Amino acid sequence: MSEKQRSVALVAHDNKKQELVAWAKENQSLFETLGIYATGTTGKLIEKGLNRSVNKLLSGPLGGDQQIGAKIAEGHIDLLIFFWDPLEPQPHDPDIKALLRIAALYNIPVACNRASADYMIQSPLLHGEYRPAKPDFSIYTQRITPAG
Ligand code: PGA
Repeated sequence: MSEKQRSVALVAHDNKKQELVAWAKENQSLFETLGIYATGTTGKLIEKGLNRSVNKLLSGPLGGDQQIGAKIAEGHIDLLIFFWDPLEPQPHDPDIKALLRIAALYNIPVACNRASADYMIQSPLLHGEYRPAKPDFSIYTQRITPAG
């Protein structure tokens, strides 16, 4: 039985987009083996840079970060590479925080800069049978609430 292709989500804030695209181009052959999701503008640049189509969602400030978070919660995304900008305030800061929270909650590997992305994609675990443990939310979902 063939293994399900892994999918990576790519997101970069405006000041980080060129860096992400350059990094993706350096790793083009690896990206040929992965499904790619991306927020709108990042996705357009990645499509151009890698000369392939990607699953483009809305632009980040228009809900794209939340869409990526939903895809993680639904199990469609295995890795998150998110070059967020530590020097610039973002209008959609709550969405960014929410995306990072969902990635942590669902035990998805996250790289927030080039060095961590290099470590992530060089990992032998990326190509083996390893799958991160799925968290068990049963204590939470079966809890008795005051409303019953
Ligand atoms: P963008 O969104 O790729 O549409 O620019 C990224 C973000 O700012 O979250």
